Order: sequence, then structure tokens, then C-alpha cells
Amino acid sequence: MEANLPAAIGFLAEVRQDSTRPHEPVFAARGSRARWHERTAERTLHTVLLHSGAPEAACARERGRTLVLAGELYNRDELTGLLPGRLLPGSDAALVSALFDVYDVHAFRLLNGRFAALLADRERAVLATDHSGSVPLYVSVAPGRVLAATEAKALRGAAPRGRPLAQGRPVRRRPGTRQVPAGSVLDIQVSTGRCVPHRTWMPPLARRIVPEDEAVDIVRRALARAVRARTGPGTPLVVLSGGIDSSAVAALAAARSAGPIDTVSMGTDEADEFPQARVVARHIGSVHQEITVPTADLLRGLPHAVWAAECTDPDVIEYLLPLTALYLCLGDTESDGNTGGDGGTSRDGGAGRRILTGYGADIPLGGMHREARLAQLDTAVCHDMDTFDGLNEMTPALSAMAGHWSTHPYWDRDVLDVLVSLEAGLKRRHGRDKWVLRAALGDVLPHEVVVRPKLGVHEGSGTTSSFSRLLADAGVPEDRVRQAKRMVVEEIYDQVVAEGRHPDEVALDTVVELIAGRTAHRPCPIPR
Ligand code: ATP
Ligand code: MG
Repeated sequence: MEANLPAAIGFLAEVRQDSTRPHEPVFAARGSRARWHERTAERTLHTVLLHSGAPEAACARERGRTLVLAGELYNRDELTGLLPGRLLPGSDAALVSALFDVYDVHAFRLLNGRFAALLADRERAVLATDHSGSVPLYVSVAPGRVLAATEAKALRGAAPRGRPLAQGRPVRRRPGTRQVPAGSVLDIQVSTGRCVPHRTWMPPLARRIVPEDEAVDIVRRALARAVRARTGPGTPLVVLSGGIDSSAVAALAAARSAGPIDTVSMGTDEADEFPQARVVARHIGSVHQEITVPTADLLRGLPHAVWAAECTDPDVIEYLLPLTALYLCLGDTESDGNTGGDGGTSRDGGAGRRILTGYGADIPLGGMHREARLAQLDTAVCHDMDTFDGLNEMTPALSAMAGHWSTHPYWDRDVLDVLVSLEAGLKRRHGRDKWVLRAALGDVLPHEVVVRPKLGVHEGSGTTSSFSRLLADAGVPEDRVRQAKRMVVEEIYDQVVAEGRHPDEVALDTVVELIAGRTAHRPCPIPR
């Protein structure tokens, strides 16, 4: 087993009362595939697991109950402390199963992790997401049958029959398929399809008033712990822009590492943040790599970003596109000769890296809004915390397309609870955005990094401007570019997620031409 990666990064699982064999699923995430089929008096369970070398560690079987877990836990010590006198479970899946034995569905309220899980227990199929839904989970239910997968496209070809679930978010062009909400458990009776939902996490609504020093200390400790929990036995790799968010993660990872950590920055032929990232890399002594992606290649990655994220929000796709390009390049440089995706190829060369990112800090801290007024800042935080679910910004499929595992310390459950709940005056203070974070890292980063203004990944890589230019060059009027981006992303989504096309088969130029034609002749339906 490659202990540096979670045992599994995705799955398809089907619980049914009869024993029909399910279809062969397609995933964007790449991993070795294991399949198994088990039968009890009440049901059959058929599973296809994307794993990293030890599929048995991703599932736990105990007294007629089987739990399948994609992802990992970050509070194992706390959790094992709840099971005194028991034989300590050897894997995260076994740990969750043992906790389920004691707490039933409430076990999922205890977990701080990045995971999606399915538990088959006699007549029940229990589906669970982590607090932030960071590993997406989709489900299709009919009486006598529950089908769940970590990618919506994996459910393609499994025709839903019967009444769809009332719970969860409908999925575009997938009637009958629902996405399990973040921080949720769906407890489904297989025979009837009846579902009882439970929320296991909600973003904090109240705000804490704490002295500056204390706030800084709480943030520093929470973030350091989250970075530590995410660092495996191997050398950590941090995707580094030189902005405060990723620089903080890199500095904390370096501080606890016996040897130099690895950092990597991407840029394009149009824009990069290489000089700023170099300052950080030099300061923390990392082994640093710079990767320049030609803009044309960056844009050609659009179908891959949509394929992995299964998201139709053009802003999110713009954030994810540079990272998609970066992860795919890392795949190339550490190539293990496999093609991935559909078809059951194996990635067992161990080249997959554990990647830490600074993604997501701006959401609880309101860093993206460049807003000085505290009321507006908190309005933005409330809005973003209310609407993140389903955007799949942190899906592991993005890096898993290239065989890697990404993890996001700012969306650790404890870090998120702390950051969201601090009163807005600690987030914007002394004329700086993300003040509390900057102050918390003042002793481990150069001053110029600590005070560096935010630059979004879509801006620093020139992604927003090059995507806009692609459309403008195709004839999209300037005031329709935003609308056209949404239409391009939706068209790609329909091809790669709804219709099952591989992203390499998407003719981006044709899609752009099609949308340019539509936006040139139609009145703009989206008010600007
Ligand atoms: P700031 O928000 O202050 O700019 P940041 O650059 O670290 O800090 P974002 O711009 O929000 O954060 O970018 C999100 C994450 O994506 C980063 O934390 C980093 O992990 C990754 N990232 C962004 N730009 C690059 C880049 N050019 N090369 C490598 N990774 C990047
Ligand atoms: Mg940035």
C-alpha cells in the first residue's frame, strides 16, 4: 500500500435486494480498480473501488455490515480515544465502522475528514459526506436498490426507476440522480427507498469576540494541526503561489518536516507569480519547481476541469483550470505510464503525490471581496458559506485525474469552524484583508509575503483574461463574455458528464464557435 495516499479515492457501490450485476463505471479519478460482490440474506453489495494499493483498507466488514470509505480522517487520535478497550482499528474505514457500532449515524458527527462513505447494514444503505462535502457523493434510489458514486458520470447508464429522492441537490441532465449535501447522512431503507436525512455539520452562524492575540494564537494552532494531520509519511508537496494562503501552508509544512519539502508553482506564457513564490521557497528552503503551461494548453484543459469537477459554474472552473493544468503536468513529470480514466488501468507505480494547497482560505475570511466595511464583509462570508455546497471546488478528482491526492488545510473542520466564527473585525483589520491569518504567520514568513495583497489563482495565471480572449476572438461581444463562459462550461458539462464523452474528444474550438454563434444572435438572458 502507498501509505502516503488514502486507501481509496473514489467508489461506485450498489446495494440491492436482487443480484443483477451493475454496469462498468467511468471515473475521471484514476486509481487501481478493485471489484467485489457480497451477498447476505437481505441484500447484495457490489462495489468498484478506486484505490491506491490496498483496497481492503478502504472497506470494513463487521457482523453483516460493510463500510466503504473514499478519503481519509484528520482526527484519528480523538476518535480512537472514544473506543477504549477495543482492538484499535487499523484503517480509517474500520475506525468509522467501529464508531458506527456505538453511535450509529451520529458517528459521522464526530469525524473531521475528507471523505465520502457508504455503509450497507442489513436493510439500510447509509450515505455520508464530510462536513464540507469535499468528496462529492451522488445517489440514485429506487425501491429495492441504492446506487451511489463519488462521480456523477459513474452513475451514467444506470437507468433510475421509481421515485427520485426528495433529499439532495438535483444533478443537471441526470434525472433521478441527487448529490448528497455537505455535512450530511442519508439513511435509506433499501426495500422502500425511504430516506431519513441528518445534518452532521453546519457553518457557524454566531461570531466570536476574542482579543487579537488570542485570535492569532487560535488560528495558528488550528492551521498547524490541520497541516500536520494532512502530511503523510512522504515528503509533502505544496502548490505554491507566493500568496499568503499557500505560503502559510508551505511554511507550516516545512516547519514540521525533517527535510526540505517540495513546492511547485505554475504560470503561463501570459502571467505567473514565480518571483513571489520564489521568495517563499527560498525562505522555507523548499525544493522548488516552476512549470510554465502555454496558454493554449491551459485552455485545452477546460473539458478536463469540467469532467473532474462536474461543475457548471464558470468562476469555479476558472479557479480550477490552472490547478488542473498543474496537476496534469505533475502527472507527466512523474509519469507511471498509465492512461487512467475509464477502462480499469492500474496506477501502482506509487508516483501519486500527496498535495497540500492553500485553497479555500478566502471563503471563511472574505478575502475575495476586497471589502472594507465589516457588515458587507460578513454578508459575503455568510453568502459564500451558504452556497459553496455542490460547486465541488475541492473535489479530489481534479488531482486524482493525474493520480495525486490533494487536501485543503483551510477546510479542515476545526480550522473552518474557527475562521468562519471570528468576528469580521478580526478578518479585516488595520487596513488588511485576512488580517488574522497574516498576523498568525508573521514569524515564519518574510514581511513582504505577509502583507502581499491577494491575487486569485485565475488572475495570477492569466486564466480569466485568456478565456475571455478566446471568446472575444471567436466574435462574442464584450458584454456577453460572461454569459458565453457559462454557456461554454455548460456545453462541455453536457458532453463529458451527461453524454459520457471523454474530455480528449471534446472539440473546444467547435464548442466556442457554437456558443459564439448563439451569443451573437440572441438577446442576453442574464442581467449584468
Ligand atoms: P492569496 O489568496 O492571498 O492570493 P494564494 O495565492 O495562496 O493566496 P489563491 O490565490 O486563492 O491563494 O489560490 C488558491 C490556491 O491555489 C493557492 O493557495 C495555491 O495552493 C494554489 N495556487 C494558486 N496559484 C498558484 C500557482 N500559480 N502555482 C501553484 N499553485 C497555485
Ligand atoms: Mg493567490
